[in-house]
Parts: sequence; C-alpha cells; structure tokens
Amino acid sequence: MAFEGGCLCGAIRYRATGEPSVVCHCHCTMCRRAGGAPVVSWATFAMSDFTILKGEPRRYASSARATRQFCPRCGAQLTFQYNDRAKDEIDITLATFDAPASLPVREHVWASTRLPWVHVDEGLPIRPEPAEPKP
Ligand SMILES: [Zn+2]
Ligand SMILES: [Zn+2]
Repeated sequence: MAFEGGCLCGAIRYRATGEPSVVCHCHCTMCRRAGGAPVVSWATFAMSDFTILKGEPRRYASSARATRQFCPRCGAQLTFQYNDRAKDEIDITLATFDAPASLPVREHVWASTRLPWVHVDEGLPIRPEPAEPKP
C-alpha cells in the first residue's frame, strides 16, 4: 500500500508505503500543544518506507528525546520521531494523509491526560503507559 499526504499549504508532500505498525489517538499534552488540537492521531511507519516528495520540513526538538517536523510555511505538524529510534520508525499525523479514512485508528495512547470532553472511538483499547516521562 502507498499512502500520500501533505501539509495545509501544499509546500510539503510525502509518501509512506507498507503497513503502519501503530495507528493511534495520542492524548499527551505535548501533541496537544504542537497540534493545537485536543487529540492528535498518528500512524507509525518504518523510516525506510517514508519519503519526502516535495519541500523541506523544519525540525523542532520538542524534548531531549524527540523531534517533530512541520511545514515552515503553514505550520502544519507532520511527523514525530524518538531520537533513539529515528532511523527505524516515524510517526505521521493521520490528518495530513490524503485519505486518512483508509488508516483506521486501533488504540488510545497517553490516555491518562485525555481531556474529559474528548469522546472518540470509545471502544478502542488503551495502551498502558510506560514509567518514563512523556516524549
Ligand atoms: Zn505547508
Ligand atoms: Zn503525543
């Protein structure tokens, strides 16, 4: 399978191939602030299956452990990577795919900080949270 997407203004375009290992709704406070949204949904692909087709995203180290990429022109959030896994996998914002409906969400992550008025995919499993701090 090939999944293409891009930012709001069209300056950045990307393609991911294969099948995502994770498709989730993230309720962490950092994704919320980065995305300006109450919940941010992600699909995780192998880094070797991810290609930037057009443009050059800007990088932001949102913590010592992670890097986010976004469009420098329109500000759309595009990717998240743990630094120690950056060669292996990349999370892509589900809402920037051209056909996000083709990537059904499978679980909730960081649900302990879920906002009380966010009600989405209530039947999905909740991933247990690691002891380590949030990315
Ligand atoms: Zn853009
Ligand atoms: Zn998050």
